[in-house]
Amino acid sequence: MSKSRLLWHLYLPYLVVTLTAVAAVTWLISGAFHSFHLNQIDNDLEIRARLIEQQVINLILEKKFNNIDEICKSLTDIGDTRITILLPDGKVIADSSHNIDTMENHLTRPEISTALKGQIGTQTRFSQTIGQNMRYVAVPVKNQQQITAIIRTAIPVTDIEQQLAGIYKKLFTGAAIAVIVPGTISLIISGRISRPIERMKTRAKEFASGNFDKKIRVSGCSELVELASDLNVMAEQLHQRINTITKQKNESEAVLSSMVEGVIAIDSEGRLVSINKAAAKFLGIEIEQAYDRSIEELIRQPELQDFMHETLKRENPKEGDIFVSGNDGKYFQVHGTSLSDEKGIQTGAVVVLNDITQMRRLESIRQNFVANVSHELKTPVTSIKGFVETLLDGAINEPQQARRFLEIISKQSERLNAIIEDLLTLSRLEQDQQRSEISLDRAKIKPVLEAAVELSNTKAAEKQISFKLECMPDLESRINSALLEQAVVNLIDNAIKYSDNGKDVRIKGEINDKELLITVEDDGCGIEEKHLSRIFERFYVVDKSRSRKLGGTGLGLSIVKHIVHVHGGSVTVTSELGEGSIFQIHLPFLKADLSNNA
Ligand code: ADP
Repeated sequence: MSKSRLLWHLYLPYLVVTLTAVAAVTWLISGAFHSFHLNQIDNDLEIRARLIEQQVINLILEKKFNNIDEICKSLTDIGDTRITILLPDGKVIADSSHNIDTMENHLTRPEISTALKGQIGTQTRFSQTIGQNMRYVAVPVKNQQQITAIIRTAIPVTDIEQQLAGIYKKLFTGAAIAVIVPGTISLIISGRISRPIERMKTRAKEFASGNFDKKIRVSGCSELVELASDLNVMAEQLHQRINTITKQKNESEAVLSSMVEGVIAIDSEGRLVSINKAAAKFLGIEIEQAYDRSIEELIRQPELQDFMHETLKRENPKEGDIFVSGNDGKYFQVHGTSLSDEKGIQTGAVVVLNDITQMRRLESIRQNFVANVSHELKTPVTSIKGFVETLLDGAINEPQQARRFLEIISKQSERLNAIIEDLLTLSRLEQDQQRSEISLDRAKIKPVLEAAVELSNTKAAEKQISFKLECMPDLESRINSALLEQAVVNLIDNAIKYSDNGKDVRIKGEINDKELLITVEDDGCGIEEKHLSRIFERFYVVDKSRSRKLGGTGLGLSIVKHIVHVHGGSVTVTSELGEGSIFQIHLPFLKADLSNNA
């Protein structure tokens, strides 16, 4: 129905107007026909009555009623007319077709009543006497202004009515044609107007649903063609704008999803409008099921919920640090800004989460490191200061004591120097790594191990420790020879330091299935299991006084760890208290190594 609405809007009023006009014309014409015929009959009947009047007037005045009746009966054949003559009291004195003795008084007949008033009375009614519809005309007969009789003439109207019916039939047929033909033409015209509009409507619906593939094609009247062309232009512009908006949306979504910061947007009622991957990951939210849900449902951290509600209430941006418990627990720096539309009405808020866990961890490492460095430096400096003051206070004059104090000062200075050296090595390593200044080149491993052994020979000799070096000569890897040498020296140094006199230290270079291994193994004091995971931390020492006595700084292994990381490898330790330790440097495996050594 809705599809043909326009058609009916155009067509129905026309049909109603046509029908009304044709019906009115038909009614008027048929009415005019009817009255015309009736007037003709009435005139004819009146003339006949007047003619009869001429013949019977004297007889009426002489009251020769029998003669009048005879005359009437003799006139029956003329034009099929029934003639009735009555006295003013309604008594029938003559009738062309009936015995007057059997006829009742006619005073109450409407045409007679009118005639008695001096006018010509007319009426059409069914005659019981004749058994047909009759037209009666009653004419008053006057003598000296007195009504002396009434002559009534009548003819059956059935034939006339039949003739009229025939005319009416033709008239109605004409009227029907006058309605149907223009009605059909109007239906066709209405269809021609409404069809292109229907087509435009269908296409406009397709435009509205985002389908701009087809254009509106309309032929016919210029207004509709122009309208179609305007709609096509509008659709094209709409398409372009939608494309631009979609592109911008995709771009901003791509930006949002590639951001390491978490971004959450909520509406003014605290319902989620947008969330990027990072925020969903931080807060453990499933993006697909999150939209339009309240922050209370989605976010389990009351602190963050409060922060978001606070942001919604404020005009100015809000900032804060929030701890989000979860798998590992994370610290976030949170920035909240309320959003408003062009009228300044607040529409929601956007909150950006910046993961600062690593920063905090580094900050705490830095603080610990500074505290450790200060502590480690303070000990020798306090000692040096103390002995210098004692010497100045007079001990300098006692040569034996002065010498002992100066020896202590010298030892503490060496320690200070060793710590500073190690710190500088670490710092240089970090800086070079940051600036990518550490170059790794393909080089043989054996010379590196030999150089490290060479450097440690003096210290080993002091404790009568002998080295056993084992390495395949062609073993190669991508290394920085100087740094790797320093790492191996540190491991050998420790092996010497923590071994008793006369023991062995075994150094080995080899490849296993997956990697290149450099092993430094000693038979020294070993390390308790509980310390193994921490000995690579900066300043971590198992036994402070022993380490200090042996000239340790607590930085040797962390330098080793750092150098090995620079090479993309790792360092591990296995040890048993009182039995000895095995330190192993694992370096990435190079295929050529195997072929070279096959
Ligand atoms: P340090 O300068 O004190 O030796 P390191 O970082 O080199 O510092 O070593 C950390 C700690 O690990 C040492 O204090 C020591 O207790 C332990 N350690 C290192 N190497 C050995 C080893 N070969 N045998 C026994 N203990 C060792």
